[in-house]
Amino acid sequence: MTKTINVLFIASEAAPLVKIGGLGDVAGTLPKTLRTLYRPDGESGVDIRIALPFYPALKNKVSATHIGKVSIAKKQHQLSAQVYETYLEGTPVYLIDGEPIQQSTQVYTADPSRDAEKFVFFSLACLQLPTLLQWKIDLLHANDWHTAPAIYALFRKRKEDASFTSITSLLTIHNLPYLGNGAQNALDMYNLPPLEDSILPAWAQHLPLPLGLYSADHITTVSPGYAQEILTPEFGSGLEQFLRTRSQNITGILNGIDYKTWNPETDHQIPQNFTVEKLHLRRQNKLYLLDELGLQQQKDTALIGMINRMDFQKGVDLVPQAVEKITNLPWQMVILGTGDPKIEAAARELEARHPDRVKVVLAYNEALARRIYAGTDILLIPSRYEPCGLTQMIAMRYANIPVARRTGGLGDTIRDYQDGFGTGFLFDNPDAVELAVGIQRAVLTYADKRRWKPMQRRCMKQDFSLEKSASQYYQLYRKLVFKKST
Ligand code: ADP
Repeated sequence: MTKTINVLFIASEAAPLVKIGGLGDVAGTLPKTLRTLYRPDGESGVDIRIALPFYPALKNKVSATHIGKVSIAKKQHQLSAQVYETYLEGTPVYLIDGEPIQQSTQVYTADPSRDAEKFVFFSLACLQLPTLLQWKIDLLHANDWHTAPAIYALFRKRKEDASFTSITSLLTIHNLPYLGNGAQNALDMYNLPPLEDSILPAWAQHLPLPLGLYSADHITTVSPGYAQEILTPEFGSGLEQFLRTRSQNITGILNGIDYKTWNPETDHQIPQNFTVEKLHLRRQNKLYLLDELGLQQQKDTALIGMINRMDFQKGVDLVPQAVEKITNLPWQMVILGTGDPKIEAAARELEARHPDRVKVVLAYNEALARRIYAGTDILLIPSRYEPCGLTQMIAMRYANIPVARRTGGLGDTIRDYQDGFGTGFLFDNPDAVELAVGIQRAVLTYADKRRWKPMQRRCMKQDFSLEKSASQYYQLYRKLVFKKST
């Protein structure tokens, strides 16, 4: 008989309450899956609970019960953090409120120094939750730079207070380059001084994510490929040498997607449901989407989609140059995304150059995203780096074939099409020529239905379920917690 592991999972987003990107998907789905896979009333299990900032935008959206308050030291003063409780499909969620969190209207601003105080405050409040709740935790699981200060604060507290020594810490990297630049002041104000004379490079000794990576008992990345890549200069954000010293404590666990919500058979937000057996029905989604976008239906023309944050990371800027090289081929394109104004403007220019072929929607629109997954034939993901990537997994689930750069989680989840095998089209370098070749290969294969349809079926049968990912986290939690207690 093994005991239940108590885990406090802390993050800046958790869908459907707050979602900006993949972190929101994972934080909203992984804990609930861990709870249902391993019920605490069984032989062993995980009592995992989430903590999130109570952003102003959540106030009208969530009904939550006030359960108490904790006090956080800011220089010589004490600030109150109010704690509320709500539930996400049975998973307790603690919402932390307080002055620094109320001051921000957005989850993230373009300038991380403006976000730093709310996340440092939130991180420190999370560390006090177990005492407030009288709930002894075995493991603190933090995510990215926003909650990394909790790991660093725990590391410091263990030296002064024995009650913290039994807590194991785990930090998941969803996106390494976001180190929390500009957070030094906030760390100082909340009595988290730089870690001088450590193996961290001097420039990183006062940044939240490096401090968390230094202090965490264990680190995970969101794919095995990215776990290797971050040890190299191209992907290591200057921390590669330091990270190599920690490589024994880094594990790559591929994210999964929630197969209940991402299911073409039952998805209420797509015009026509379909299955592997009834793949021919899928075409209705394409026709509907073309109509909705005001694009003309053309027989045997591949419809290409793109859904992502308009960020340099995602390589959206490579698309305009790439498509100019393949204007002789039959394709149409829809791009959905929002973000960097320069990248948005370049996408609009592309649309203006090819009004009969390209539609650009500059928005965050989940319902349209679903119609694009279900209605386009090919999904472009030319990321410069991709810690895991969820869009390719969702695409495959919806029989949509990815064209992607072979990096991080994209390389782990897509097998390049060769000789009748494979689930997508991969290219190695983030440049417009290689992307154009990838699109060309996909468009030409699309034209041959004897090759295309089996490929769609192979994609739909891939297993990127959350259960798979959750069971790997469960094994890791057990290893970390029980190693510590023996
Ligand atoms: P990242 O976390 O780097 O943004 P991921 O591929 O891990 O990238 O996750 C992106 C998630 O956000 C997916 O669920 C995708 O469908 C969704 N998404 C991205 N951009 C948009 C958009 N403009 N509208 C709707 N959903 C979007």
